[in-house]
Amino acid sequence: MSFIPYSRQDIDEDDVAAVVRVLRSEYLTQGPAVTTFEQAFAARHDVPHAVAVSSATVGLHLGCLALGVGAAGRVWTSPNSFVASANCALHCGAEIDFVDIDPDTRNMSVDALRAKLEHADATSTLPDVLIPVDFSGLPADLREIRLLADRYGFAILEDASHATGASYLNRPVGSAWADTTVFSFHAVKVMTTAEGGMLTTRNDALARRLRLLRSHGVTREPRDMEHEPEGPWCYEQTLLGFNGRMTDIQAALGHSQLMRLDTMHRQRETLADRYDALLAELPLFLPLRLPDRRSARHLYAVEIDDARTSATRAQVVKHMRDAGIGVNVHYIPIHTQPYYTRLGFKRGDFPASERYYARAISLPLFPAMNAEQQSFVVNTLRTVLC
Ligand SMILES: *Cc1c(COP(=O)(O)O)cnc(C)c1O
Repeated sequence: MSFIPYSRQDIDEDDVAAVVRVLRSEYLTQGPAVTTFEQAFAARHDVPHAVAVSSATVGLHLGCLALGVGAAGRVWTSPNSFVASANCALHCGAEIDFVDIDPDTRNMSVDALRAKLEHADATSTLPDVLIPVDFSGLPADLREIRLLADRYGFAILEDASHATGASYLNRPVGSAWADTTVFSFHAVKVMTTAEGGMLTTRNDALARRLRLLRSHGVTREPRDMEHEPEGPWCYEQTLLGFNGRMTDIQAALGHSQLMRLDTMHRQRETLADRYDALLAELPLFLPLRLPDRRSARHLYAVEIDDARTSATRAQVVKHMRDAGIGVNVHYIPIHTQPYYTRLGFKRGDFPASERYYARAISLPLFPAMNAEQQSFVVNTLRTVLC
């Protein structure tokens, strides 16, 4: 059997044709295809505004800035995430801190958040922005987090990089609860623009700020200018922005992928259901299912139950990789990265994230994966665990 990656983009002939059409058109950079993609994404997510950006990393940074995070700011996120979820705060000059995970959902623990907020309230160190992460595509507890946000006065920047197409309380992720939600279209995620991201929001002013920030803080809209334009050539820089734009080439691919999102999502669900059935008897903890939310199934992450097997995580990973199965581990807790330990964090600070990480393995899951490949993954895993 040929190598099975843990994740892989799904590109069809419609995707190729959509990209080629843009290459033959007038615009290559941000133009009409970006607008079309944004409008379709907003409609699909039942939200008034979608702002396309060059990556989710840029989206997180712009989101923090648009929400007013500055040099004296405080941002909290989950240690069980990619480093970009925390780096965005540091790019704003703000202070970063973490809230440990719930070992069952692997998302930010609402109990840990509540306790940390009570303490921060007493010491006047409440966060300005909270970044909950929808780990593996399973939506975080946004309803409870919203109640806490309203009580303590912080904004919610949801990192839904894994969760395009997921739903929570019968609403698409990115449509409600958070002030703004960031999606990633990196090639390993549930839909792709190669590199790329999107922010959604219901807040008109926030959407305008995000659009300004992604393009140098410059506007060409007379109604957004501070002075009467002297002529049609005029543009105004009203704040300090970046080049965080998506290209029309990427947007055409994104729009084509979006049209297939539900199909790809069903393929992922079928595979996840089958993993649940085939792995039920193995010494593993499987991903949690919750009746009030639907995961986008970006990752199928299991934990080795060390009470029921003597195989270590390192042995399992080696055995799987030697067999040509590209298992991976998500995530090394951010606070244990050397850069973060230099900021004062240390091992032991967030024990649930560290314990999860020590036992975690992400199994291959992507739309084109077939039943034969999946059985091979399961049988290989059984050999090393049992
Ligand atoms: C992939 C990812 C990002 C960064 O996304 P890019 O589009 O690659 O910048 C941020 N947060 C999480 C949780 C991710 O998985």
